[in-house]
Amino acid sequence: MRIDTAEIRRVVMPLISPWRTAYGEDAAIHSVLVRLGSDGVEAWGEACPLYAPTYSPESALGVYETCREFLLPRLVGQELAAPADVASRIGIFKGNPFAKAAAESAWWALDSKRRGLPLWRALGGTKPEVLCGQDFGVQDRIDDLLALIAGAVAEGYPRIKLKVKHGWDIEVLQAVRAAFPKTVFHVDCNSGYDLHSDWETLRSFDRFNLAMIEQPLADTDLIEHAELQRRIATPVCLDESIKGPRDFRLALKIQACRVVNVKPGRVGGLHNAVQIHNMARDAGVTAWVGGMLESGVGVGICGALATLPGFTYPADMFPSRRFYRHDLTDPEIEFDGRCHFRLGERPGVGFEPVPERLEAVTVARHSFAA
Ligand code: MG
Repeated sequence: MRIDTAEIRRVVMPLISPWRTAYGEDAAIHSVLVRLGSDGVEAWGEACPLYAPTYSPESALGVYETCREFLLPRLVGQELAAPADVASRIGIFKGNPFAKAAAESAWWALDSKRRGLPLWRALGGTKPEVLCGQDFGVQDRIDDLLALIAGAVAEGYPRIKLKVKHGWDIEVLQAVRAAFPKTVFHVDCNSGYDLHSDWETLRSFDRFNLAMIEQPLADTDLIEHAELQRRIATPVCLDESIKGPRDFRLALKIQACRVVNVKPGRVGGLHNAVQIHNMARDAGVTAWVGGMLESGVGVGICGALATLPGFTYPADMFPSRRFYRHDLTDPEIEFDGRCHFRLGERPGVGFEPVPERLEAVTVARHSFAA
């Protein structure tokens, strides 16, 4: 298909309450949406790198400018029949996986919509249903967290992920495990620990029978994660460290993880995400899909990816109402029975931005025509 038009928007979506992790606090989610058009059909993609370069080296400002200045001018007016065509047009640029994913996910959205296929089918998903877990960020008090966990357990979530950081880790886990001895938990460290200076803490995580410890060490590291995995029993899950299929190949080579969290934004788009899914399946490594608190567009994209059969651990995706008073999309993201995200048969992503709602949160925009 020939790309006739493109549009990019940077949006700021206020959260109902701030999201607190090892890298700080976000009161609003800054995201980037890209629309591509061909023959009168239009579709939106999204990549959500957060406001500041705290989760990864990319920021929403950077993603917006990289797409506007470098990526989209190389796509508009081009014949792009397959994901490889998109990659070959933008692959000359180093890094910037979130920026590439913003553009590339719009290509998938448009291509699947034009073919009359829901995105999850276009990606090779087998059933339009994703089992999701529950996540809790850092709270003010342990009792607040215990109350939240009690609610999630009562609602039947299949697993609970806890954000940890220095000063909110071992003591918290002791209290959590004492109160909930059988619940499946894992911790996400968001690169907050050091193998050497934090060794006693890292070793202590083994006491809590965790499903995994997610991204304990630096976002640029693979080698020390491999060393940590040799020294602890809890499976190491890599998130920030895997920025594309090549990183994952290296991680497998040195056994740096037993689990991988796949986010289309972080790995440069859906084509790369599917490749990592296939590599994990072939290597016997557990894989699951994570999220970045995207709008309904991005959650629809992550959900479509998560329908691939090799994603076996419950995903990180949430109904719109968990974080937003008003999401951008119609329909909003709703779960069935609280932990099942069902995608349906609408062509494309299936969660379209409502023009007025998109307008209300847009802080920058640019349009292109061939
Ligand atoms: Mg993570």
